[in-house]
Amino acid sequence: MSMFGQVYVKDNKYKLKGDFHHLTPNIPIRNADEGWKLMGVTNPRDMTYIHSYGGEAPFFEALGEGKLLATRCDNPDCEFKGTIYEPFRIHCADCLGKNTIIDITELAKTTSKVHTFMVCERAGAFNILDKPVKFINIEFEGIATILMSYLSVGDPEIGMKVLPIFRTKNPTCTILDLSWVPDGTKKEELPEGFTF
Ligand SMILES: [Zn+2]
Repeated sequence: MSMFGQVYVKDNKYKLKGDFHHLTPNIPIRNADEGWKLMGVTNPRDMTYIHSYGGEAPFFEALGEGKLLATRCDNPDCEFKGTIYEPFRIHCADCLGKNTIIDITELAKTTSKVHTFMVCERAGAFNILDKPVKFINIEFEGIATILMSYLSVGDPEIGMKVLPIFRTKNPTCTILDLSWVPDGTKKEELPEGFTF
């Protein structure tokens, strides 16, 4: 019996449970045009990678609680004190000081607009978003950076007002717990598991 690899932290150490790799047989690769002569073998590699969020963990935790967090430089000695960053930056790029975490959920609900967008008919390996994927860059009033995310309802347009939605039911604790819909979208139109 195998189980998915699971990890928790205790005494400042990773504690592992379950299987982090699976043995899968090599399969011969043969040439159909030359009497099924041996050409090589497949080498299956299936492993679980332990990805640490470090100082960004509060951002991902908050998405599942329906909140969008950003960070702000509050260092009085920084030339750019007060600058707000979304995506979440742990440190200020100007003074290298540690930023303050702030909640911008209300600001995002009232001022988010599509800065630009890109519609992809094909996606890379392991991409589980519905195709075509409507990637959007979102600008917020008073925030220095734009955020890359994806639109779940309708079609994007530059300057369009959008609202954040959050996967609050069974969150995946990944960036996919955050998505966006056009202003005016009804609750019933949201994807399964998402709320405003
Ligand atoms: Zn700074």
